[in-house]
Amino acid sequence: MGEEWDLAVVGAGPAGSAAALRAAQLRPDLRVLLLDRSGFPRDKPCGDGIAAHGRDELALLGLPALIDDYRPTPRLTVVSPGGLRVSAEAARPNHVVPRRVFDARLVEAARARGVEVRRHRVRELVPDGSWVVLDGRLRARTVVAADGANSAVRRFIGLPAAAERHTALAVRGYADVPESDDVQLIAMQRAGWPAYAWSFPIGDGTANVGFGMLLPRLRAAGAPGRQVLHGRLAELLPDRPARELRAHHLPLSTGRPAPGAGRVLLAGDAAGLINPLTGEGIYYALLSGRLAAEAALESPGDPLTRYRGKLRGALGRHLRTTDVLARLAQSPGFIDAAIATAARRKEVFDLLVEVGLGAGTVPAPLALAVGLRWLRGATGLSR
Ligand SMILES: Cc1cc2nc3c(=O)[nH]c(=O)nc-3n(C[C@H](O)[C@H](O)[C@H](O)COP(=O)(O)OP(=O)(O)OC[C@H]3O[C@@H](n4cnc5c(N)ncnc54)[C@H](O)[C@@H]3O)c2cc1C
Repeated sequence: MGEEWDLAVVGAGPAGSAAALRAAQLRPDLRVLLLDRSGFPRDKPCGDGIAAHGRDELALLGLPALIDDYRPTPRLTVVSPGGLRVSAEAARPNHVVPRRVFDARLVEAARARGVEVRRHRVRELVPDGSWVVLDGRLRARTVVAADGANSAVRRFIGLPAAAERHTALAVRGYADVPESDDVQLIAMQRAGWPAYAWSFPIGDGTANVGFGMLLPRLRAAGAPGRQVLHGRLAELLPDRPARELRAHHLPLSTGRPAPGAGRVLLAGDAAGLINPLTGEGIYYALLSGRLAAEAALESPGDPLTRYRGKLRGALGRHLRTTDVLARLAQSPGFIDAAIATAARRKEVFDLLVEVGLGAGTVPAPLALAVGLRWLRGATGLSR
């Protein structure tokens, strides 16, 4: 008959660990299993940028000090596709923490809270009445699928992978920088737009640097993807030669699938929850993992309906906003206009950060102001 679990979580990245941590936090008596094909610590190709909103989620999970030993990086510089540069202090600082460290800390916290953590690659999932059976021997009342961008579980429950037009590919590496460098740089590129390079200093004399673009644009570049990504990164950040280069897919929220089926709930990248404007996904992974666990606990008979409602409540308006903005942002002129507006008005800069890194939406008057600027083709700071 195999083992029985109240909740089984597949994948121990931020989404999976958040689900396991939340379940154990709310109901220490529950049997919670957290599975990952890798042992921890393990690397995950990522920009390592953790938005302030991600820290809010850590606090909700009972881990407010998890990354306090990393230096906050409040300063942000954004270069628009047309070359307009805006620098400002973010309303709340972000952090840069290598995923090798961050994910292992989350897994360790889950283990300390009583979660059973196992190295195990899930290869099969079969619904069986009020149970879900993993690999023929692990029975769970609810499964949270947090197995990342190329989720196998999503495939097992019959949901398609994201279409290429909703998927980006990005490469990241590490480069030496002065220890005093404390500016997060995002440099957007008109060539192959939407595309951007970043440099996120960690605070220890290294920075996470990378470059990403949409898959169809990458294919259209006419050279092998690796060559294009590595080449553009070296060209855009010539003073920061990168080592440990690794690439990975980003399933953008514009192509998000249904958030699960039956007793299987998708969270994080498996649910296609990456911001299409910035590539930010850690906050959405922590948030959706937490909500999936809450749904499983609150509504064990029908966790999916509860989960849908929770996701809609937390992110519905935001996702609709970024769906529209991502379409408008196909035109680099729109982003130029938005950044030109942000350069003149700090409250707009803060709002764009909320939309790009959090659950923010755009008030109608601001949408109108940006739209008018876009129509006028006004991309200069002087106007
Ligand atoms: C180059 C790059 C840069 C990025 N930069 C940023 C950034 O700076 N800030 C940000 O917020 N987001 C960034 N993102 C997005 C961010 O990395 C993801 O959104 C985030 O990792 C999602 O977390 P997750 O828990 O859903 O999935 P993951 O972190 O991918 O974790 C999935 C886990 O599932 C495990 N797994 C997979 N298959 C199985 C299986 N069959 N059985 C068991 N385990 C399995 C994997 O081993 C893995 O540990 C970036 C992405 C890329 C590719």
